[in-house]
Amino acid sequence: MVFTHDTELALQAAVTLANSALEPDTLTSVADLDRIWDYYGYTGSHQRTRAELDAVRGVRPRLIALLTAERDGAVHLVNQMLREARAVPQLTRHDDFDWHIHAIEPEAPLDIRILVETAMAMIDVIRADEMSRLSVCADATCEGVVLDLSRNRSRRFCSTTCGNRNAVAAYRARQK
Ligand SMILES: [Zn+2]
Ligand SMILES: [Zn+2]
Repeated sequence: MVFTHDTELALQAAVTLANSALEPDTLTSVADLDRIWDYYGYTGSHQRTRAELDAVRGVRPRLIALLTAERDGAVHLVNQMLREARAVPQLTRHDDFDWHIHAIEPEAPLDIRILVETAMAMIDVIRADEMSRLSVCADATCEGVVLDLSRNRSRRFCSTTCGNRNAVAAYRARQK
């Protein structure tokens, strides 16, 4: 494990949300948001309304900007997000999760909590000087965010679709 479990989970969720904005958009219904909610084990308020969905969709550009920023730029964005939300880090323990940090109350709107949770995770990434774990997809036509938590840092594509497309292209190039 590169980071703590809660940090890795928050990063994975942020990347999933960021990449949901790629064409075709995969976060267009409350059911889509529910799936991400369940998968990443979010807790706290969840309205299941169009307004909440639109708000979460609305923070995706900020997530993308943060996840793909240079280290110093990321610092600026993290501090801004935490200040804006008046984040107060508190250790908490719930469900199957041992002590970890929540920096905003569970009743706060989901989009704000996602921003704060991502910012808190990025604190670990920045402090560990591990920004290279985040990159933009190596596919020439794709702007997906890649999170590489592998031991040998081998991940270059945002999805198996992009990985396969490039493997096929490389194979064809070798056949010429
Ligand atoms: Zn928690
Ligand atoms: Zn890609």
